[in-house]
Amino acid sequence: MFKGILITKDEAGYGASVQSIDASILGAGDVTVHVEWSTLNYKDALAITGKSPVARRFPLVPGIDFAGTVSSSASPHWKVGDKVLLNGWGVGETHCGGLAQTARVQGEWLTALPAQFSARQAMAIGTAGYTAMLCVMALQKHGVKPTDGEILVTGANGGVGSVAIALLSKLGYHVTASTGRLAESDYLRALGASTIMDRNELSGPGKPLARERWAGVVDSVGSHTLANACAATKYGGAVAACGLAGGMDFPASVAPFILRGVTLYGIDSVMAPQTIRHAAWQRLTADLDMSKLESITTEVNLDHAISKAGALLEGHVRGRVVVNVDGV
Ligand code: NDP
Repeated sequence: MFKGILITKDEAGYGASVQSIDASILGAGDVTVHVEWSTLNYKDALAITGKSPVARRFPLVPGIDFAGTVSSSASPHWKVGDKVLLNGWGVGETHCGGLAQTARVQGEWLTALPAQFSARQAMAIGTAGYTAMLCVMALQKHGVKPTDGEILVTGANGGVGSVAIALLSKLGYHVTASTGRLAESDYLRALGASTIMDRNELSGPGKPLARERWAGVVDSVGSHTLANACAATKYGGAVAACGLAGGMDFPASVAPFILRGVTLYGIDSVMAPQTIRHAAWQRLTADLDMSKLESITTEVNLDHAISKAGALLEGHVRGRVVVNVDGV
């Protein structure tokens, strides 16, 4: 038995609570991990609240991320005592996840914890931070350089946005942070944003083409925000789209793509191949300022993770939330 969050759905309805969990409910897997830290991502908040159908089997331990130590292994890749982390692969959706003291998963889903990071730091980064790195890597692979001009980061106070700002500013880019929380401008500037923009400027219907402004974009909002970001991307520029915090639709025209050669990159963290994950985690060891990471991180226990989920979806949580699964 171990402690964790359990999502249930039955005649009594949909619910999430901290419980003593029997290992028999864990899915198939050849590696068991003693989870030390987990996180609260946007998708975890959707699963815990039931606001979107993220949880697809019941009962389910939510948590798309975890970091910890291998406690038993039948996998040729891992041995007892190895430090590991996991992001995605359907864990926390179709397979029991990281918001518990124990996880059982397939060995090929695990990534070695980089020696530079503690388990807590890796989870402060979590899927949100690793996805921010994937977005930055997409822009760089496209050839976007700091001298090309401003990079727009939307959903700036969120997990993806906060880490993207920290990464881009360390790499020398001029970052414009779009936010609905202008009162957090000092926080965003401390992370490295040079310009702060009210997200209302991007959230309504816009023109097919707008004045060319962005050399690149990291978008975690979607909907009109993504459409307007594409419309104002400079000739030959690139947009990395990873999120839907503002909506899943994409009410855009083809004009930026066929008249300005703009490229739209789709970013997926869940099923990304291991080679790309390794590259992203290695880049994070070099390109993320650890003092900035600590400054954006809030620590909670499993009970508080449940109560924080609603606030996160309402846009009231700033930066990243790490979960101490042993915390009382
Ligand atoms: P957070 O909740 O931490 O941040 C989202 C931010 O978006 C908020 O802080 C807020 O920033 C902004 N926002 C919230 N609601 C709205 C709205 N209605 N309109 C415009 N902006 C809004 O989430 P994450 O950063 O962890 O994730 C962001 C998105 O990226 C989510 O949709 C998530 O599912 C997705 N994601 C996708 C991944 C992938 O693999 N593709 C991986 C990780 C995340 P502010 O207050 O500054 O405006």
